[in-house]
This record gives sequence, C-alpha cells and structure tokens, in this order.
Amino acid sequence: MSARVGIVTGANKGIGLEIARKLGREQGWLCVLTARDEERGRSAAESLLSEGAGVRFRQLDISDPDSRERFAKDAEQEFTAGIDALVNNAGFAFKGSDPTPFAEQAEPTMDINFFSTVATTERLLPLVKRSPHGRIVNVASMSGHLRIVPDAELRAKFASAGQPGGLGHDELMLLARGFVQDVKEGKHKEKGWPNSCYGMSKLCLIAYTKILAAREPTLKVNACCPGYVATDMSGQQGHKRPDQGALTPFMLATGALDGTSGGFWSDEKRIDW
Ligand code: NDP
Repeated sequence: MSARVGIVTGANKGIGLEIARKLGREQGWLCVLTARDEERGRSAAESLLSEGAGVRFRQLDISDPDSRERFAKDAEQEFTAGIDALVNNAGFAFKGSDPTPFAEQAEPTMDINFFSTVATTERLLPLVKRSPHGRIVNVASMSGHLRIVPDAELRAKFASAGQPGGLGHDELMLLARGFVQDVKEGKHKEKGWPNSCYGMSKLCLIAYTKILAAREPTLKVNACCPGYVATDMSGQQGHKRPDQGALTPFMLATGALDGTSGGFWSDEKRIDW
C-alpha cells in the first residue's frame, strides 16, 4: 500500500517544520515539506531526512500564482491517488515594532493568511477529494476569535458562515476585500471592523473553514490555534515550544482528533469560535 501524503505549507521553520517532522515520522505517511524559499526548504527537509523522517521537499510560495500552479501540476503527476492531508500553516504577521503604517498592513497580511491560503486550497482541492480520507487543516489563531469584531451585525454575519442560508464563499471574499479597502482608507473603525489585520485574516480563514466544510461533506476541514508558540513570528516568546504547537494541527491532519468537520480547535480540543 502506498503511503498517505501530507502537504505542509511554510514548513521550513517554526510550527510548520514541527508539523512536517511529526508527519514524516508517522508510520505510513509521506510528508511533502513545502517552503517559498528553495534553499531554506531543502535544508529543512534534509535535516528531517537525516533523522529518518519520510519527507520530500517541494517549492511552494502560496502567494505566487505561478508557484501554486507549478506545485499543483507536479502534485497531480506525482500523487495520483490524491493528497490525504493539506496543512495550511504558512502565515505572516507584522511585528508590533514594524514601521509600516497600519493602512498598509491589511493587504499583505490578508493576502498571505487568507486570500493565498484560499487560492492554494481551491487549487489543490480536487487532489484532496481524490483521497478517501481527505483532510484540510487551516492553522488560524485565537486572534481570529469572533469576539474581536465590534459590530454586532458583522459578527453575526461571520458567525453564520457555513450554515444553511448563512455567509457563503463569495460574500466572505467581498467582506474580506472590503476590510482591506476600509483599512487603506482609514475607515475600518467607523465601519465596525476590529483594529487587527492579523486577527481579521485569521477570522476570515476560520469562516472559510466552516464554509468549505459545509460545501465538501466528504472531507474533514478544520481550523486550529496552535497556542502561543515561541517562533520567529512571536519574537521567540510564547508558552509552547514549536513541537507542542504542532500537535493539534498534526492530530487533525492524521485523523487522531477525527469525527467532526468545520471545527475550531486548540490544545487538542474543539472550542467555541
Ligand atoms: P514563523 O514566522 O516561524 O513561520 C512562518 C512560515 O510561513 C515560514 O516558513 C514562512 O516562510 C512561511 N511563509 C510566509 N509567507 C509564505 C508564503 N507566501 N508562501 C509560503 N510560505 C510562507 O511562524 P509560526 O511557525 O509561528 O507560524 C505558523 C502558523 O501558526 C502561522 O499561520 C501563524 O499565523 C500561526 N500562529 C502562530 C502563533 C505563534 O504564537 N507562533 C499563534 C497563533 C497562530 P519564510 O521562512 O520564507 O518567511
């Protein structure tokens, strides 16, 4: 029997590297460790290979349409039986000390954490659906909790994501673009948006998770928060080591927390959004 295939984005360091390490060590799994930078990705994959993990490196910059297309085309040739798990881990956050004006922070943050993650998922979806047990894990954050949205009507709209008659894919895309525009114009507060581009990007990702789970009932699609993890993103602050932060996404990817779809998870438990 051929190995199950798990793809991890942004896996050259941090939590992604640890998810890749766990998947590569898991009996019966092959991990495709992806990174936008060829050299950093190869060197990470080589270090896992030297530990005996079942890992293969492939370049994937989720924000680059050509890279996405090349990766998907190669994956179609290489993994004819499908992709068993897609872990959307790649992410970005401006540091508090970054001099970039707030008005310019929404676009790059929403692009990587939301729009490009959605585009990557939609492109790879047919391959995930080919697997008899396809799973998608979106590494989101507690920063994307619904309570960050000050406007009650907007909050209720997001809360309805994936429910019959609730927020759907196209409307979510419009709302997300609207947030970016309102931040650019300095109007986001008066429009009822939160003052966090990172939080909004993860909130939109969780809403997308729920919409996709409802649309694709044969798949298990879940979002999670890894916890506060000491990585470059957090300036190496955090209560958890990267291998601890990797546990929930890894368990969701392999089916160890199986049963439901469309959930938001943290510390290996399903939590309220
Ligand atoms: P790191 O900054 O350590 O790692 C982020 C990874 O994403 C890097 O490999 C980076 O690549 C990659 N990446 C960024 N942009 C792209 C892109 N366009 N295409 C492909 N890869 C990309 O962060 P963490 O390990 O901490 O974060 C992993 C995930 O966990 C993120 O989604 C983050 O938002 C989430 N998270 C983290 C928390 C924490 O406390 N650390 C808390 C809650 C959520 P490169 O090295 O080339 O920059």
